[in-house]
Amino acid sequence: MFDVEAIRAQFPILSREVNGKPLCYLDNGASAQKPQVVLDTIQRAYGHEYANVHRGLHTLSTISTENYEATRGTIARFLNAPSEDHIVFTSGTTEAMNLVSYAWAMPRMQAGDEIVLSIMEHHANIVPWHFLRERMGVKLVWVETDVNGDLDPQAVLDAVTERTKLIAITHVSNVLGTVVDVKSICAGARTRGVPVCVDGSQAAVHMPVDVADIGCDFYAITGHKLYGPSGSGAIFIHPDRQAEMRPFIGGGDMIRDVHRDEVTWNDPPHKFEAGTPGIVQTIGLGAALEWMMNVGMENIRDHEADLTAYARTRLDGLNWLNVQGKSRDKAAIFSFTIEGAGHPHDISTVLDKKGIAVRAGQHCAQPLMEHMGINATCRASFGVYNTRAEVDKLVEGLELCHELFA
Ligand code: PLP
Repeated sequence: MFDVEAIRAQFPILSREVNGKPLCYLDNGASAQKPQVVLDTIQRAYGHEYANVHRGLHTLSTISTENYEATRGTIARFLNAPSEDHIVFTSGTTEAMNLVSYAWAMPRMQAGDEIVLSIMEHHANIVPWHFLRERMGVKLVWVETDVNGDLDPQAVLDAVTERTKLIAITHVSNVLGTVVDVKSICAGARTRGVPVCVDGSQAAVHMPVDVADIGCDFYAITGHKLYGPSGSGAIFIHPDRQAEMRPFIGGGDMIRDVHRDEVTWNDPPHKFEAGTPGIVQTIGLGAALEWMMNVGMENIRDHEADLTAYARTRLDGLNWLNVQGKSRDKAAIFSFTIEGAGHPHDISTVLDKKGIAVRAGQHCAQPLMEHMGINATCRASFGVYNTRAEVDKLVEGLELCHELFA
């Protein structure tokens, strides 16, 4: 049975105070806290089992390599990828999207080709495509959300032309919490022969993800939002797309042979992983994902669905609060402004004095901010360890802000 207090007890940081108040951590969309098992795994990896990977034949290098490579299998299980060979390690989603841009898209695109994006992408799923626009004359085609922050999958497919070479789309908006129907988009894209690259940074932490069922070509995740270490992450790449990719970063590990006038590549996925990687980060990510699967992704989804419904009701009750994004299918992410109040930074500062951590700003989503006609929002984003009582604390904090500023 899911017991949120038992979950909370596994996160040492949640028992600390901030500004003399118990920490109420609602900035999970930016980065999540780490359970004890992840901290212990990192400690053990550095303290007892550390050496470089894929290089030595000595005992520690073998243990370290086994622990590191085991994460590939864990990620494949976590995403239901058919094989661990379809998983490429990255330092996070930003690197993953740059990998797709440089290694897959760049050699395959020409001036006038098109990439379809939604208006609510994070900059990590925008700027790598801007490189292609700027350097090669590729056109970015934007699909907008409706007033509720929903994205119609048909609108995405309607934007596809014979020049479309890729659809790059988020699974969950980091600002609005909107859950995008990526499965329908992938099904439609397949019949049109267009690959789909999904940014799963915000989705994989809130719900079970099955890349085989979604039918995507690329699916990126980032470790620090998955209760794992920063600097870790991965991307699922369909083998047909892997076969079309040239290497990205050059160096050790990604090669088979290097001579004065010739170089040959290692097999995928290693072909796309150069140099000494984030060894302990990746081992820690493995521990985090095992932990999530032990808690149960369905349990996590259901607990957060309860929090989302509760937070929706409580926040909707504040008639001076403008909640952005009223999507029916919404992950536990709420962006808002207070009518007549100052900058969201001021709201965040007052909440911080109450021990409540939220994020304020543009959330690396400037095109969405422009589309919504606002400069910035405050964002409360919930995780597996948050409670209804913390939603109440947020509401109390917001009421104080309203009194102070509005
Ligand atoms: N995509 C989305 C939707 C995000 O929310 C984030 C992080 O905020 C990223 C991409 C970038 O991830 P990272 O900074 O871990 O590379």
